Amino acid sequence: MKSNSATVIDLSDKTVLPGLIDGHTHICLTPDYSSNPPVLYKTNTYRTMEAFKAAKRILNAGFTTIRDVDNEGADMADIAVRDAINEGMFVGPRIFVSGWAISITGGHMNLTGLRPSIDKKVEQLAIIADNSEDMVAAIRDQRKSGVDFIKIYATGTLRHINRETLESLSQLSTEEVQIMVNEARRWDMDVAAHAYGGTGAYHAVQGGVHSLEHGLFLDDKTVALMVNNGTFWCPTMTVYFPDEGASEADIRFRNRIVAEHKKSFQRAMNKGVKIAFGTDIGSMPHEEGWRELELMVDYGMSPMDVIHSATVMGAKLLRMNDELGQIKEGYYADIIAVDGNPDEDIKEFRTVDFVMVNGAVVKNK
Ligand SMILES: [Zn+2]
Repeated sequence: MKSNSATVIDLSDKTVLPGLIDGHTHICLTPDYSSNPPVLYKTNTYRTMEAFKAAKRILNAGFTTIRDVDNEGADMADIAVRDAINEGMFVGPRIFVSGWAISITGGHMNLTGLRPSIDKKVEQLAIIADNSEDMVAAIRDQRKSGVDFIKIYATGTLRHINRETLESLSQLSTEEVQIMVNEARRWDMDVAAHAYGGTGAYHAVQGGVHSLEHGLFLDDKTVALMVNNGTFWCPTMTVYFPDEGASEADIRFRNRIVAEHKKSFQRAMNKGVKIAFGTDIGSMPHEEGWRELELMVDYGMSPMDVIHSATVMGAKLLRMNDELGQIKEGYYADIIAVDGNPDEDIKEFRTVDFVMVNGAVVKNK
């Protein structure tokens, strides 16, 4: 319908909200990534096309802005997708990228189990840096490529967790984190730290990272420091549930992790940690961000606070809260609409009926 020169879209029977913000995505990953590492089996050209498809799916699910936290060795695919969208070649979400993450030899994102004669010849999933000089060089290199922020691995991954104590591998000292944060800040960039808990998570917060990712095992000490330092947290809880067809031992292990993650979430929520919604999507299908929204409600956060976490808090995480996360004059026209009232039923986000990004309607059921 046209009135004068403006197009009028009647959404009066819907609930209209600011576009959602996912603070932790992976457009360069598909859910089979851990059994088939894409650095070994896919060209980066192919991964770039996959990333476009992923971005489009995420947008269609109502997420108009994403912070893509590690391309896992996809060269500059995330940067290319961001730029092509920004230049208007394709319609997609607003994307902030980290390019290649930084990890250590033997740590997360360093392929293991390869015979020594081929180990050094294989491309890795992250930049492997074992001293502060290499860490600083990695940040400069990523900045030169055009990233928006830096992703570091402050703890290991699931295979590094002690199955007795659930302590995760601490990968960095506080000083190393500080050196990277200072270097990133010099270029006006923030640092996001993958950290499960324990010493590694504490070092990350103490070293001044802008956000902690995952935080499965956040103890009181780390939570208190996060509150004190104003550190953001992207919980990404859904992806740690046991996979279908997992062994019994793995299901038991995963269930313990999920139970601890829930405790961490409630501890952080009650103490006032700045929780910015994040899914780790890519590890799960790109259109299923609603699962995490529902889980947060399940764990005791009110639907309105979950919506706040996925809009206003996400915008703050990106230092874009003067332009994103609200429907307001002077803000980007990133708008979605759902049926019913999501404040009463968070499940409304399973079907987002209307999506507008940067003033362009991409979905209107
Ligand atoms: Zn992730």
